[in-house]
Amino acid sequence: MLASVLETPWLDEAAIPCRPQPDLFFAEAPADVEAAKALCADCPVRARCLADALDRHEPWGVWGGELLVAGQVVARKRPRGRPRKNVEPVAA
Ligand code: SF4
Repeated sequence: MLASVLETPWLDEAAIPCRPQPDLFFAEAPADVEAAKALCADCPVRARCLADALDRHEPWGVWGGELLVAGQVVARKRPRGRPRKNVEPVAA
């Protein structure tokens, strides 16, 4: 998945959790995004993966256990759909 990370000579590619299912790391569903982030937890190149992604200004996806949106780390993926309307009662 990560060209620069995978160029690391000591790295066993089989130890990289995203290798078998790269699409999960660019998923739309918030649950899938959280699943991808959880898989990164045991990755031996997690810190470098995130640092490299930020250096490359990756526009989106899960990198190093973090979700990037528009090149920035965000806590959660927002579900699709319209934003909620203001449900606060309006004072008369
Ligand atoms: S930290 Fe996550 S996205 Fe990066 S190489 Fe490891 S499993 Fe893949």
